Amino acid sequence: MAEMCAQAVALGVQEICFTDHFNNHLLDMDLGYYKPERYFQLLETCRQQFPQLNILAGVEVGEPHRWGRKIRPVIDAYPYDIVLGSVHWVGGENMFNRDYFNTRTVQVAYREYFAEVLRLCEAGGFDILAHVDLPKRLGSSIFGTFDTAAYEADLRRIWEVCIKNGITVEINTKGLRSPANQLHPTVEALRWYAEMGGARLTFGSDAHHPSSIAEEFETARQTALQAGLQYICRIQKRGIVGWVSLVD
Ligand SMILES: [Zn+2]
Repeated sequence: MAEMCAQAVALGVQEICFTDHFNNHLLDMDLGYYKPERYFQLLETCRQQFPQLNILAGVEVGEPHRWGRKIRPVIDAYPYDIVLGSVHWVGGENMFNRDYFNTRTVQVAYREYFAEVLRLCEAGGFDILAHVDLPKRLGSSIFGTFDTAAYEADLRRIWEVCIKNGITVEINTKGLRSPANQLHPTVEALRWYAEMGGARLTFGSDAHHPSSIAEEFETARQTALQAGLQYICRIQKRGIVGWVSLVD
C-alpha cells in the first residue's frame, strides 16, 4: 500500500482509494483472506506517511446480493468511504475460467453475466458498480472483440437500475490491459448512460500493482467527455461530497 501511495504521489494523484477484495463464494481462491482490521491499520500508517495524499477506505465486495449475510456486518462495522459492488461469478462459474466461455455461445455467456449484474444492482447496498462488462477480459480471447451494441438492451436495463438506486458507474481502465483492449465499459455504453440521465461516474485503474496506478486515466477522461459525461464524483463516507469537472 505504501508503494502504491508513493507512486500516486509521484504521478500527482491527489486522492486514492484501496478497494481490497472481500469475496465469499465458496470456490473463491481468496476465501477467508480479507482482514479488515489489518487493512485499516495499514491505511492509517499510509495516511501518516503520505499527508499530501487523500487516502480513502474502500472495499470491493463480490456478489453482495448473494453473500449479504456475510458481507453486511463487515460493511457496517468499519468506516468505509467507498464500497464497490461486483460480479465475478455466475452461479458456480468464475469469469476468469475459460470453461464458462467454452460451454456457451457468445450471446449466452455475456447475457448471463449481465443478468447477474442486474440482480446485483437491484439489490443495491453498495456505492459503485465495478467493471460492468468484466467477462470480456477473457471472453475476447475466445470470441473475438466484444461488441457492445449487441448488448444494448442488457446494459440499458443495468443503467436504469443504477440511476434509480443512486449507484455510481465506474470507468475501469484494466480492460485496456487485457485481451479485450477496451475500457469497462466502452464509449457506446457510456453514451447510453448519459442519454438516460446518468451522471454519477468515477475512474478506477483496478491496479493490483503500483505500476498500474491511475493508468489510462487520460483515456478515461476523453472517453467520458465523448460520451457526454462531464464530471466525476467524489465519494467519502459512502456519500457524494463533490463533483470534479473533466473539462480542461
Ligand atoms: Zn473485480
